[in-house]
Amino acid sequence: MMEVKACTRCGSRNLKIPSQMELEIRLTLAGQYKCSDCGFIGFPIVFDSNEDYAKYVKLKKNV
Ligand SMILES: [Zn+2]
Repeated sequence: MMEVKACTRCGSRNLKIPSQMELEIRLTLAGQYKCSDCGFIGFPIVFDSNEDYAKYVKLKKNV
């Protein structure tokens, strides 16, 4: 099963591991990601599949 992680703030899948400096500034706990699109650092939303993620994106667009 493939996990899909997405940004909690903007829903982007463009996530990366925060740099060491960012980790020190934010006292970031392991498992957090930085969003390349909106700069949010935190725990991502984890979906079980691409289908679940697609549904989420659809819902987000309809709001
Ligand atoms: Zn984002």
